[in-house]
Amino acid sequence: MTYDKNNIFAKILRAEIPCEKIYEDEFVLSFYDINPQKKIHVLVIPKGEFTDLDDFSNNANPDEITGLIKGINIVANKLGISTKNGKGYRVLSNISEHGGQEVPHLHFHLFGGEKVGKMVE
Ligand code: AMP
Repeated sequence: MTYDKNNIFAKILRAEIPCEKIYEDEFVLSFYDINPQKKIHVLVIPKGEFTDLDDFSNNANPDEITGLIKGINIVANKLGISTKNGKGYRVLSNISEHGGQEVPHLHFHLFGGEKVGKMVE
């Protein structure tokens, strides 16, 4: 799939629309999900233009891959939900049609702050 530069997360990255920011560095931006499904529900997205995890795995460079994985941990620590300072959380990424992906820019959902529950509905 070609990357759609007008998807909502691309607009957030360009600061064309606002977000409730949690963390930002060279590789990632993290912000609260607008429609939280759990007590804590945030998103971590790479700054590069990747549609989904398959695209990212195939095309991101090693620094981008490390930056994204580390970014998830940094955000979990900031929110107090990591194994270092909390009770854990769930990371989820929806990929394309069967995965139920709505926004075509790679993102990881982090759910926590309470027991997250059943893995798949
Ligand atoms: P997915 O179904 O994995 O593509 O999830 C997309 C997520 O983006 C959903 O959980 C939405 O609630 C969330 N979302 C959509 N627009 C925004 C926005 N402007 N700010 C924050 N989260 C958003």
